This record gives sequence, structure tokens and C-alpha cells, in this order.
Amino acid sequence: MRKSFADLLSQSLKGKVVLVRVDFNAPLKDGRVADDTRIKASLGTIQALTQKGARVVLISHLSRPGGRVDESKRLSPIRDNLQALLGHVVQKVDDCIGPNVESAIQNLNDSDVLLLENIRFYKEEEANDADFSKRLASYGDYFVQDAFGAVHRQHASTYGIAQYLPAFSGLLLDKELDYLTQVLNSPTRPLTAIIGGAKISSKFSVLENLLQTVDVMVLGGAMVYTLLAAQGISVGQSLVEPDLIPKAHSFLERVNTLGKTLYLPEDHVAVTSFDDPRTAKVVEVFNDDQIGVDAGPASVARIQGLIESSKTVFWNGPLGVFETPEYSNGTFSVARSLADAHHATTIVGGGDSIAAVNQAGVADQMDHISTGGGASLEFLEGKVLPGISVLS
Ligand code: AMP
Repeated sequence: MRKSFADLLSQSLKGKVVLVRVDFNAPLKDGRVADDTRIKASLGTIQALTQKGARVVLISHLSRPGGRVDESKRLSPIRDNLQALLGHVVQKVDDCIGPNVESAIQNLNDSDVLLLENIRFYKEEEANDADFSKRLASYGDYFVQDAFGAVHRQHASTYGIAQYLPAFSGLLLDKELDYLTQVLNSPTRPLTAIIGGAKISSKFSVLENLLQTVDVMVLGGAMVYTLLAAQGISVGQSLVEPDLIPKAHSFLERVNTLGKTLYLPEDHVAVTSFDDPRTAKVVEVFNDDQIGVDAGPASVARIQGLIESSKTVFWNGPLGVFETPEYSNGTFSVARSLADAHHATTIVGGGDSIAAVNQAGVADQMDHISTGGGASLEFLEGKVLPGISVLS
């Protein structure tokens, strides 16, 4: 059994050093944090620990420095942002291992917060090096896993370290797992999954696993065209993955065998030139020269109806090329309909869907926004995630 954050808080933490793996992999622009969603997501864990008098040491990666020091990938802007959000001094050392780190930790007082430097400056991190993991673990009394966005990685700070310390999940990880487990195992029904995006190849495993639990599956984005092509429906010049057509056939058969409702858009926004929105037309049947770029209005209305009649909705992936305003109606309509679905539990995952709820100004109306795109999809595929299994 995984030890939860509540299990850790039931202990006396005064004078104890708690190492917390957080996911502060936030985008930077001009030396500042451009989007602090991930930093905000771990504030609850940090605050609960400082309130209990723990000495909190935060470990994170930022981007992919490739196992060496990269001045543009230091965590100083993250420290500044975290300090402002917490309203509490956040100390920082310019390394994540070695004598400077050791003395910084020894000098901590109860309730202090210390941020270590980008853990991926060391190649031992991604190699899950045993000595590196042991050395990191020697700095603390307890380990807390709160980096949901990195739990699908078997690295020293997400996995190795937890083998050498009493390890617990953090508040954010507990919340992520509560919502995603609910989708897989005990949803309030009807459960609708809305899955979009460019390539069906990257989401097939998720579709297959989710099909077992959902009542309704709505698909959108270019992945739809491979399924339509498998049914012998002409999709013009739309993006199709021909190699995946046999798999698409067996998926459609499984939908029937399991008696699930699969909704594919019945009309489309189609263009003759991808870069020229002036050529856009709403079609039910594609001409040979047309490319599908968004769900059409009849489909959008039907999807809104399906959301209204659901009690749980999980959404991952855009319904069209939403980066182009003229092709974004399907995606933003889903974001707004989820915001209006007060009767339903709404869970959103994946960078593009999160960007869409943010741009639509409705992020705070979702019940849960998953901070881990890759991790949430792998979880929903039914995979064992090393950063979670190591806590058991
Ligand atoms: P993914 O990374 O597979 O979730 O795909 C996200 C991308 O899918 C976004 O950048 C969208 O622009 C793209 N996308 C969605 N619908 C379409 C479409 N009909 N044709 C081409 N790309 C699409």
C-alpha cells in the first residue's frame, strides 16, 4: 500500500528534513517563469510541511540539460516565483549534491524551505544511478513524491531515492491519483471520455484501456480520419495514418462487442489549403482536395449534449487545429461546455487541452487539471508508473 501524505503528517516533523520531489519544470521566458501552474500545484504540500515544522528540501528538474550544467536552465527564476507565491523565504543552492548542499541543509531551521539546483545537471539522475540516489537520500529523513509530471520516469530523484528512505506521496500526487483512479475504477456514471489530437498512434493504448471503463467515447482531431478511413469513408487529404487502419478496424469491432457509444464528428471544418482559413467550409462529406481541420457545428452541438448528460467527463487533446483561431471552435466549445457542466466531475489532462481551458478563462471551473500530460496518459493506459509503484 502506498503511504499517503496524511500518513506523513501524522508523524512529528519538527527538526526533520523532508526531501520533496516536485515538478517545477515550468516554461521560462526572458529569465522569468512564463506559466507557474506547476509551481502553484505543489504549494499545498510545501505549506503543510512548513506548518508542521519540517525542514523542506525541494528537488526538481527543469527541461533537458542533458546531464551537464546549462546556465539557462538554472532554477533561480523558479525560486523567485515560488518565494512570491509562498510569501516565505525560499533558500537556494547552486548545486543539488555535494558539500555546499550538505552545509545548506545542516544550517536549516524548522519550517525553512531550500530549493536545490536542477537535478538533471547530473547524468546520474536520468541513469537512476544507485550511488547518486543513496547520496541524495542521505540528506533527508523522509521522501515525498509530489512530481506527478515525472512519475513515469525511473530516475534517481523520482525512483532510486525512494528505495533508501521512508517514502510518501504528496498532496498533489494524492489528488492526481484520486481523480484518475476514479476515472478508471469508480466513475460516477455516465462517464464520457473526449480524446483528441493529431495522431491516433500515440493514443491507441489509452483509447483501448479507456474503452473498458467509459460509457461514451468522443473522438476529435485528426485521429478521427484514420477511423473514418477504416470504415471506407472518404476523408480527402486529411491526416491519416495508413499503417494504423487494421488496428482501427479491431478497435471499431471492440466498441461494438463491448456495446459502448463511440461518437465521431458527423460534420467537419474543411479547407483546401491548410494555411488559408479563407478556404474553410463546413462539410459532411469531404471532396478529394479538402483537409479536415476542426469538428463542424452539428458535431459540436452533439458533443455539448453528451457532456450535459454525463456525470464524469475526462478530456485530453484538441478537437482541431486550435492554434489557428478559425479552426478552434470545436476545442474551445468543449472547454466552455465543461465549465458549464456543474453537475459533472470534470478532469482535464494534456498540454493542449490545459492551454485551451486557460485561454478560455475557465480553468478554475474544472474539478481537476492534471499537471502531468505523459504521466496521466500512461496511468490511463493502465501502466505501472515507477515513481508511484516505488512508494508501495
Ligand atoms: P497530440 O500531440 O497528438 O495531442 O496533438 C495535438 C495537435 O493536434 C495540435 O497541435 C493540433 O493542432 C493537432 N490537430 C488537431 N486536429 C488536427 C487536424 N484535423 N489536422 C491536423 N492536426 C490536428
